[in-house]
Amino acid sequence: MVKPVGATRLRKAHFGYNPAMAAKIIDGNALAASIKEQVRARSQQLKAEGRVVHLAALLVGNTPAAEMYAKRQAEACADVGIDYELVKLPADARVEQANATIDRLNQDESISGIMVHQPLPQHIDSTALLARISAVKDVEGVSPASLGHLLLGTPLNVPCTALAAVECILSTGVSVRGAEVVVVGASEIVGKPAALLLSDQRATVSICRSATRDLAGHTRRAQILIAAVGKPHFIRAEHVAEGTVVIDVGINRVTLPDGSKKTLGDVEFESVAPKASFITPVPGGVGPLTVAMLLRNAVRSSAAGQKQH
Ligand code: NAP
Repeated sequence: MVKPVGATRLRKAHFGYNPAMAAKIIDGNALAASIKEQVRARSQQLKAEGRVVHLAALLVGNTPAAEMYAKRQAEACADVGIDYELVKLPADARVEQANATIDRLNQDESISGIMVHQPLPQHIDSTALLARISAVKDVEGVSPASLGHLLLGTPLNVPCTALAAVECILSTGVSVRGAEVVVVGASEIVGKPAALLLSDQRATVSICRSATRDLAGHTRRAQILIAAVGKPHFIRAEHVAEGTVVIDVGINRVTLPDGSKKTLGDVEFESVAPKASFITPVPGGVGPLTVAMLLRNAVRSSAAGQKQH
């Protein structure tokens, strides 16, 4: 059995709940720290073997939010010994320019991984641009080739958020094999790849979508429930059976009645936690692990790539 990692009993002081409740918090920050430690060791080893460990991130346009995100990403890479380069194009860059940039990065042997900051300006087709990234260098695992490999059961890199959700589940020690899993949401970067990963581990997986009839009827059957819907507090106590492992992928910025801003998950933590066996908080659950998974993918790309001469 996998030893639970980063799961701590709910603490009254921190969350304002009765500590007698069953749910354990899955501590995404602790899990992320442990993965980053492994990534740091691996990137050192790869560099010692003469391999390139160098992530290039394409940013088209320069909103303050994107710049801030890129800065945090650069810091996260530096922290684990991954070289990082932000490749900038103006917001009105032509599609051909963006394509040529990806082609150049694909061919550049001093670059081991490529990612594209989203959202792209409207005139650039994101799917078509991502499809140009070579499968080996696609650290976000979002190109059709990467997703195809996942479907075939021969994954190269897998979308980071789906990996993060699965890592949270594995950290609990609860057996996935044969478990009833319900994933609410079917995006290409979260719901679908998470469902595939868990199905490949022999779970029985249902994917619920916006047209699902009797959502609660499905989710209440789940032993493991993943919420990736993008709607604040969408999953509530009535959707969850006692003892469920609840993974909340949602990151929803909402304005409270007093005008202040808050980040809420897709799960109503207050009502669901008392019924869950394990639950991820928002923030501090899947989010930090997603970043760690990007770094882990980056060293995987490096290991799979060319050796530097
Ligand atoms: P998305 O592309 O907007 O997809 C949302 C999914 O939810 C769709 O498949 C949609 O179904 C489904 N859905 C919508 N209403 C529903 C309903 N009433 N019942 C059942 N399913 C419903 O979302 P995403 O990109 O996967 O993101 C989901 C959430 O995760 C967002 O809050 C996002 O911010 C967050 N997120 C977090 C991270 C992280 O690092 N933690 C990373 C990425 C995303 P249909 O397709 O049938 O309409």
